[in-house]
Amino acid sequence: MTKFVFVTGGVVSSLGKGIASASLAAILESRGLKVTLIKLDPYINVDPGTMSPFQHGEVFVTDDGAETDLDLGHYERFIETRMKKTNNFTTGKIYQSVLEKERRGDYLGKTVQVIPHVTNEIQEFIKRGAGIGTPDAVDVAIVEIGGTVGDIESLPFLEAVRQMSLRMGPNNTAFVHLTYVPWIAAAGELKTKPTQHTVQKLREIGIQADALLCRADRRIPEEEREKISLFTNVPEWGVISMWDVDTIYKVPRMLHEQGLDGLICDKLRLNTPPTNLKRWDDLVYETEHPKGEVRIAMVGKYVELSDSYKSVNEALRHAGMRNHVRVRIDHLDSESIEGQEAEKLASYDAILVPGGFGSRGVEGKICTAKYARVHKVPYLGICLGMQVATIEYARHVAGLPGANSTEFDPSCKHPVIALITEWKDADGTIKTRDANSDLGGTMRLGAQSSDVAPGTLAHSIYGDVVTERHRHRYEANVNYLDQLRKAGLVISALTQREHLTEIVELPHSVHPWYIGVQFHPEFKSTPWNGHPLFNAFIKAAVEHQKAAKAAA
Ligand code: GLN
Repeated sequence: MTKFVFVTGGVVSSLGKGIASASLAAILESRGLKVTLIKLDPYINVDPGTMSPFQHGEVFVTDDGAETDLDLGHYERFIETRMKKTNNFTTGKIYQSVLEKERRGDYLGKTVQVIPHVTNEIQEFIKRGAGIGTPDAVDVAIVEIGGTVGDIESLPFLEAVRQMSLRMGPNNTAFVHLTYVPWIAAAGELKTKPTQHTVQKLREIGIQADALLCRADRRIPEEEREKISLFTNVPEWGVISMWDVDTIYKVPRMLHEQGLDGLICDKLRLNTPPTNLKRWDDLVYETEHPKGEVRIAMVGKYVELSDSYKSVNEALRHAGMRNHVRVRIDHLDSESIEGQEAEKLASYDAILVPGGFGSRGVEGKICTAKYARVHKVPYLGICLGMQVATIEYARHVAGLPGANSTEFDPSCKHPVIALITEWKDADGTIKTRDANSDLGGTMRLGAQSSDVAPGTLAHSIYGDVVTERHRHRYEANVNYLDQLRKAGLVISALTQREHLTEIVELPHSVHPWYIGVQFHPEFKSTPWNGHPLFNAFIKAAVEHQKAAKAAA
């Protein structure tokens, strides 16, 4: 039978609920349990696909093509279970489903209400996420509820999980509440009052926490833990301290050593083999003992919020560990690069242009791709980064001045990147679109496979077939491929069905390491193996650094 752990948050957001949930899942997985994570987002958007990265950080894409919250990226990086469409849903999605049912007449004339219709729908979605009734059913599903207790928006979610816990019985569900214990410098004290209040708020809703994860900038001493326990009705061993650490890989051990997984397994009556966190200890060792450092320039437009490129940042760090180097990433604003490439980019060991939408800053990215090509600096272009590399090559090498993407200039002379109108989706269905299609969920999304041309850089990385996740509307225009090829650009992978361009690169004779990919490899990188493309990119950065030092 599937058991559930509900993780709620109090006092303020951004305390690391995603990492805490993923860490608990990882510890339980190390005890031999089959685990998944589900994220409930209280906002009205049907999914985060249409939200600005400035507002919401990165949109994480699953194999089956769901555009999801970035916490799902943490989940996939922390546990073995892969995330699917059903692992993330929002208030908007719940209402969409309830309203569809209402229009179909499924409620048989009843007045449709938050309780029970919306709350029942939430429970159905949670069960679906846990795979109940399918061969994928897990032993434990950890359900992270977005937002903060006390928000109007998250109330139906909290009410739904309260009902679920009542229906399932006390030993089949557990509640973990993440709270904040601020250090007040003037008083020289940790303050427990906000925690007392948030737990009261939770109890008003009818939820008694089994464990409190108390975030603070330091360890919470015995005395404060006792006090918190007394005021919150949580036994003292359930009051767990979560202090600031320099790497997220330390969190699973931190929680385990204070007995969080033991407490959860007791509550849920789960008999398991002991915890084994060796792989986490190895990761911590690896991050703390690099043999060198490489500096990467990431030239994008959402640079103020590095969460916008969360998975790319993580993938670069994973690849650093595989190559035993620390990776320092500088996020450079593409708008400020144009005309100053030489000063701004000269000191880096490699350059990366990540994905992006809209025309702002595109010319700066094109200059960046040119700089990397001409100066033979390792270049990785991801999605838009591949498109700008193609535009740059068309303009400056293939003799196609004015080349552009129709996304940025619909009437450009040479639309080397253009909208495709029909493609096959991750689930095999044929999808069509035009310039007026809805923005939400209409992109080429999810995992698709392509054949890789032998003898190319891409082939040395991926072998014969590459399967990666997509999230974009525009594609390299087939009508220009021959011209680009003749000018020396190598098209090293094409999708199996539509023959869409997946990877472009420069031959080794011309450039040591220059590649652009239409997909998003960052979503499949894990701390354990890294990702072959990022591993190769960081390796190229290390080699570039060595060569530069030798030449100096
Ligand atoms: N804006 C481009 C497109 O829609 C690239 C998208 C991306 O980088 N994810 O095709």
